[in-house]
Amino acid sequence: MNTNRDEGVIKFKLTLKRAPAPEMNQVIALEKWRALFFKLGLIGEYPIEKVGFGNLSSRLPKKSFIITGSQTGHLAHLQAHHYTKVIECDLKKGSVTAEGLIPPSSESLTHYGIYEANPAIQYVFHVHHKELWEMLKNGPFDFIDDDIPYGTQEMAQAASDLLYNKTSGIFVMKGHDDGIISYGSSAEEAGRIILDLYRKLAIRQ
Ligand SMILES: [Zn+2]
Repeated sequence: MNTNRDEGVIKFKLTLKRAPAPEMNQVIALEKWRALFFKLGLIGEYPIEKVGFGNLSSRLPKKSFIITGSQTGHLAHLQAHHYTKVIECDLKKGSVTAEGLIPPSSESLTHYGIYEANPAIQYVFHVHHKELWEMLKNGPFDFIDDDIPYGTQEMAQAASDLLYNKTSGIFVMKGHDDGIISYGSSAEEAGRIILDLYRKLAIRQ
């Protein structure tokens, strides 16, 4: 059994306050990219383990952000109520407070760490792809060491440290099977980085 695939397990202390879901217009840019990523298999569900993978977020004012809900990877299209607002995180305590109808992605702390790194970063996209992951691991790309597990305070801190002076780019999580994260000042910027590499990979094969 694959020991790195503990996807989908929430490792932080979650406080979920029941509140209306985000407005549809707040999630349109995310949904557009998510639908494409789903089609390409960059977001989905592992068929044997039945765990979803891939999560997208966009920054809101005051250190909050909107993120896809936990265990929504199997859905081709999300409704607004599948998104949740993360309103507060504490990296030291490993706690997340969210508002909405669904728990936020198990990778919320990592997204928070990235937004903390640089106020210019507005979008964070996390996808999974075996071949892309291999290519990034073996190429001249930013990475997080393989001893840092997904969804932890350590991962969030490592991502924050890695990106403190960067506005857009991509990095690979060596300790999180198939796991890749892109980020940018717009959805377009964060999305294109993944798409361009995906196409490059398709040409190579
Ligand atoms: Zn993941």
